[in-house]
Amino acid sequence: MATPGKIRRDLRIFQRDKFRCVYCGYTGNTFETWRYLTVDHFNPRASGGTEDDGNLVTACMDCNTIKKDYQFATLEAAKAQLAVWLAKERKDYDAHFAPSLEPHPARADSVTAYR
Ligand SMILES: [Zn+2]
Repeated sequence: MATPGKIRRDLRIFQRDKFRCVYCGYTGNTFETWRYLTVDHFNPRASGGTEDDGNLVTACMDCNTIKKDYQFATLEAAKAQLAVWLAKERKDYDAHFAPSLEPHPARADSVTAYR
């Protein structure tokens, strides 16, 4: 269970960012999608990044994982780099995973959610 302080902090950051990953735009506005939202230290803690709200952003788990402890001068620079990395992931998805997906009415949106 998250501590009340962490819940308040996460809620504050998510609300400010409208429950959207600042890097890719993923929206976590239902329980199922909210589960994949995280609070990212834009300037990583390992590099001296602070806990101030100005250094915290909403990030989906995938972007947070990919970004790791890389430092970027601006949010736009981070978004541009993440877009490059995500494009590489998409090539793997398109080549290997998408062709094996069975059409399923309940998943019609999820298959194309990231397009
Ligand atoms: Zn993201």
